[in-house]
Amino acid sequence: MSDSLADFSPSLQHIFKELLQFDTVSRNPNIALIRFIESYLNELGIDSQLIMNDEKTKANLYARLVPQTEGGVMLSGHTDVVPVDGQNWTVDPFKLTELDGKCYGRGSADMKGFIACVLESVPRFKESNLRLPLHLAFSYDEEIGCLGVRSLIEHINSSPEKPTMCIVGEPTNMEPVYGHKGKVAMRCNVHGHPCHSAYAPQGVNAIEYAAKLVNKLTDLAEPLKEQQDERFDPPYSTLQTGVIKGGTALNIVPEHCHFDLEMRYLPQADHSASLNALQDYAKNTLEPKMQSVNANTGIQFEVLASYPPLLTDPQSDFAQWVANWSNSQNFGTVAFGTEGGLFDEAGVATIVCGPGSMEQGHKPDEFVSVEQLKSCHHMLENLRDWMSE
Ligand SMILES: [Zn+2]
Repeated sequence: MSDSLADFSPSLQHIFKELLQFDTVSRNPNIALIRFIESYLNELGIDSQLIMNDEKTKANLYARLVPQTEGGVMLSGHTDVVPVDGQNWTVDPFKLTELDGKCYGRGSADMKGFIACVLESVPRFKESNLRLPLHLAFSYDEEIGCLGVRSLIEHINSSPEKPTMCIVGEPTNMEPVYGHKGKVAMRCNVHGHPCHSAYAPQGVNAIEYAAKLVNKLTDLAEPLKEQQDERFDPPYSTLQTGVIKGGTALNIVPEHCHFDLEMRYLPQADHSASLNALQDYAKNTLEPKMQSVNANTGIQFEVLASYPPLLTDPQSDFAQWVANWSNSQNFGTVAFGTEGGLFDEAGVATIVCGPGSMEQGHKPDEFVSVEQLKSCHHMLENLRDWMSE
């Protein structure tokens, strides 16, 4: 017989069902889901602070359980999910469907399952005699570049009772993760000068200049392999082009070309050196050549998204505790980014550990197993025991 979520915990099933039915794809408001959490906590006598976006359509939620002392542990997750457009779902993505010990729905693994487990555990934390505060932090716009959490971190930084430790419940199969690379995504816009292709030397070919930059980027990626850290896969920083667009017709020297590049860097790497070298090459080598033909040409770079790397010492007390609570000694790193890098940067020791797998995250028929939700429940119970010793 397979596991049933209702048999395990009707309240967990109820909360999970509620969370999944909010369509919190990043482009949509998340405020209805946040209001649901706020009123749930309110009924338990816990105040929430909402940190809204300018349009008041999206919010982070931050709450804190006694005692009023410094430190404590924060449980954190993002409330937004990736779109389902163009994906072939066999179940309704915005409804909990339970089948053979698996709970299906958009965000079930990434990462409403974790948030449901956290909320379900709050009444027990509330009844316990906690010696350390428990902090709850739920963000928006993680999937589009860890944007929402930045105002949440400012809020936490400005409060006198900042947590010292954080568990980010991204799906890791409940195995503690102590690190991931940082990322910078950029767009390079090359503005040339058009003319009929028969007179090509009178124009400035945007595609050809973009190609020189792409080549330069390939050259800059090569020495990055020299600095290695075997804990990451691949064990060095990478730099690559993912998209290129330019030109309108073969008989016109192209005026515009842009390409998107991405750097994923080791925590100890100086990522700005490579990106600066690329921009120096554009400014000092290519632009003077372009502008000698036509002054109204040039190259601009813009940052599309970025997040810092995460690296917490796996031998640290906190990392070891999380390993105990999650009943897993399988420490590792992951290829995807999390908000953990930003918490780490803010001085909060962070470990990523949550139910489900990124094998299912972002895919059609995303699911989390009941077994994984049970493991998460046990980790939170162990944390509660430790905090109320
Ligand atoms: Zn996620």
